[in-house]
Amino acid sequence: MKFPAIMALRFYNTLSQRVEEFQPSSGNTVRLYTCGPTVYSFAHIGNFRTFTFVDILRRWLRASGYRLDHVMNITDVDDKIIRNAAAQKKSLSEYTAEYTQAFLDDCATLRLEVAEHLVKATDHIGDMARAIARLTEGRHTYSSDGSIYFRIATFPGYGKLSHNDFSGNLAGARVDVDEYEKADARDFAQWKAPKDGETSWVTEIGAGRPGWHIECSVMAIKYLGETLDIHAGGVDLIFPHHENEIAQSESLTGKPFSRFWLHAEFLMVEGQKMAKSLGNYFTLRDLTARGYNPEAIRYLLASVPYRKSLNFTFDGLQAAQMAIERLRRFKLRLDTDKFPEGANDRAAARTEAARQAFVASLDDDLNTAESLAAVFEYARDANSAMDAGQFGAENRAAALRLFAQFDAVFDVLRPSSSAGAVSDSDIEALIAEREAARKARQFARADQIRDQLLAQGIILEDTKSGVRSKRK
Ligand SMILES: [Zn+2]
Repeated sequence: MKFPAIMALRFYNTLSQRVEEFQPSSGNTVRLYTCGPTVYSFAHIGNFRTFTFVDILRRWLRASGYRLDHVMNITDVDDKIIRNAAAQKKSLSEYTAEYTQAFLDDCATLRLEVAEHLVKATDHIGDMARAIARLTEGRHTYSSDGSIYFRIATFPGYGKLSHNDFSGNLAGARVDVDEYEKADARDFAQWKAPKDGETSWVTEIGAGRPGWHIECSVMAIKYLGETLDIHAGGVDLIFPHHENEIAQSESLTGKPFSRFWLHAEFLMVEGQKMAKSLGNYFTLRDLTARGYNPEAIRYLLASVPYRKSLNFTFDGLQAAQMAIERLRRFKLRLDTDKFPEGANDRAAARTEAARQAFVASLDDDLNTAESLAAVFEYARDANSAMDAGQFGAENRAAALRLFAQFDAVFDVLRPSSSAGAVSDSDIEALIAEREAARKARQFARADQIRDQLLAQGIILEDTKSGVRSKRK
């Protein structure tokens, strides 16, 4: 479905430090690269804030009429992984397979779309070795004790993404924490010498294992070409990771590595930085185990525009759940109420205004807060119009289209099946109880039962022959 844009789609580009109009460089396909997880443990909700931003980005690009060619890497080799796998007496692949699957399961729980190419670092060791060999031919590297480093001094553009000024003397500064000997504090390992008892690969540049930064450069270029349309990730990756990706990639190709760089801000928990020592460190599983619905978590993570830091609170999670219920109730009314014949012109104009506001907000650097506000204000006004008999049967289709457009991006209206599956006999018992409540004129209780069923994906329809239920 293509939603016509009223104003052009714009993103804030970290590289230019400006909001710029976005179009893919050629054709209709957006070539997108995002840095994926390092699979040594379960991802935390700070990670999922970034991945949810990427999901909203994907969905809005598609809604804007573009096709997607998206690469996400799985970092399945690094110092921690090697150490943890050895400690648990597991092979590297055994150890990482478990957390890779956990990550994919978590993404499915949060309804995050899977990238067109999900690629593992360990499947591309040869490609990385070849790239390092080419950088060595171009005199961009040096060796020290069997490791190979990228020499930052050979790349004059270093600092252009993070807008750090590296002209001063950085000797002694700890920029990239590393235990190896380097000529310049900024230089980083592309290839690490093998250590006794640790996993390593034998390649054309010798034995060892790749550093993290080379992984992204090599896999992005391999699948998407020399210049990407968008590279995205969390703000914590701007420096040094993305700066290093640019240095390597542009030294390899002589071309700009990515036209747009988009970065999601940090997530705080109850106003504090998330840290295991503070007891405010949560994985997705921690939250669902406490009974929170995945769609409420998704809503909360998506509701704050990605360039603002997000304060994750349990009150916020409750509010998200209630906000979703409000929209589900409105949608149910839209689906099932009987409206007067014909179309009401004011209702039609109100729906169109809401649609335009929704589109304009997301076109404006994915302003999710404003796009949600447009939908909520619309639901409130349309509810009033319905109460006043000023919403016609022929207004229904456009309103449903607006909600479909909303849910194609936010994807929160469908209840998660895991959120307390309800049996047919439970449903019948609740319907009977609701009927009894209505006969006794206990309408609040009757509505409560209807909402409870709705939250579990059961829609009640009042028909002449009695109450019908259907599963969404
Ligand atoms: Zn990366």
